Amino acid sequence: PAERVRESNPSIWVELSALASEYNAVNLGQGFPDGPAPRFVTDELKKIAKHPELTCAHQYTSGYGHPKLVKELSKWYSYLYQQQVNPKTNILVTVGAYHALYYSFHAWINEGDEVIIIEPAFDCYAPQIKLAGGVPVSIVMNFPDGGTNASQFTVDFEKMESSITEKTKMIVINNPHNPTGKLFNRMELLKIADIAQKYDLIVVADEVYEFHCWGVNKMIRFASLPGMWNRTISIGSAGKVFSITGWKLGWAIGPDHLLAPLKAIHQNCIYACSTPTQLAVAMAFEKEWETFHVKPHKSYLGGYLPEKLEIKRKKLQKMLVNAGFAPISPQAGYFMLANYTHLNTGFRISEGFEELDDYSFTKWLCREKKLAVIPFTAFFANIEDKMRNTSFVRFCFFKKDRTLNDAKKIMKKLS
Ligand code: PMP
Ligand code: GLN
Repeated sequence: PAERVRESNPSIWVELSALASEYNAVNLGQGFPDGPAPRFVTDELKKIAKHPELTCAHQYTSGYGHPKLVKELSKWYSYLYQQQVNPKTNILVTVGAYHALYYSFHAWINEGDEVIIIEPAFDCYAPQIKLAGGVPVSIVMNFPDGGTNASQFTVDFEKMESSITEKTKMIVINNPHNPTGKLFNRMELLKIADIAQKYDLIVVADEVYEFHCWGVNKMIRFASLPGMWNRTISIGSAGKVFSITGWKLGWAIGPDHLLAPLKAIHQNCIYACSTPTQLAVAMAFEKEWETFHVKPHKSYLGGYLPEKLEIKRKKLQKMLVNAGFAPISPQAGYFMLANYTHLNTGFRISEGFEELDDYSFTKWLCREKKLAVIPFTAFFANIEDKMRNTSFVRFCFFKKDRTLNDAKKIMKKLS
């Protein structure tokens, strides 16, 4: 194989999804809703399938995005960013958010360029940056011992600033944050904006969970901050927005000069994404808009989704506390971390075993108890940071009640 893939190991999703299915485990690991996809979205795909004669639905579409989808995205994000988003030049439709991230790094990172990542972080950032020839620089968030809320994860901005060198090119932020469930507040985002401005950095804002905020928690999109549109590539995912992760459709949004190099790769890489799913997502956005912009609390994204998530979040949190875990209450997204080390279970760490404790616990839980979760250390790149963070595992709570109830039965018998 080529040099650049020699060090590559199976990602946590490859490894643990296989384990979960091998043991037929109740899966609170990988982040996807296991209930039915919203019917108003799948109905659009059904309509498309009933019309094989429609060229605009079944043949190649415009390379940078189906005209109807970019039109909808432009309408939505012009409103959400309070910034004119041009459908023709400011949007690139990709195969999920993964792909938009991949393009962002490949289009902007030269050999040796440094990219700041706030850790814990979604696990593909560091490997993707390295594949592009860049150097990931981790800024690990602080969290107090015994903390109970995701808002207690905080960034040391002085440390972030002092890590900047003449090679620093970019900062990646993920808000709402996977895996902690933290929602960055305005003050924190403005600090990042100041640093980006001062050192002339590009910001990649992975906002795939932008609609997954409940209660008083309000999402602030990075591109909407003063002066930030011009230096931000915002990344979204239809899989997350409409709870259809298997459709693998995402987008990068940004000013012409930031998106042009991504498009340069795209035109020779895949040229255009799958047409019918783009059209169906466009029609779902169009339908959703009718209620979202007049009565948001009555819409799927402004009402149904956040309400469902809050109920499920509470249910899982209660189950975890009753079972003896110490959960960290999330502010947004669909994940929750929990400390497992006070559980009185049969799990014992084997002496001299060359594996991180949270991996051992995760594998034991999957094999012996048939419950799949994700080890927290998967979200750190450096071994020293992993070693300091072996007490947590991540649960996904966007699961149907039956799955959560099955998990509850398992948890009841844990200690
Ligand atoms: N970013 C984050 C923070 C994620 O959790 C995920 C996982 N879905 C992605 C990006 C990738 O999204 P997609 O499935 O649209 O590629
Ligand atoms: N983003 C999802 C998670 O964090 C799934 C990622 C994946 O399956 N590759 O669980």
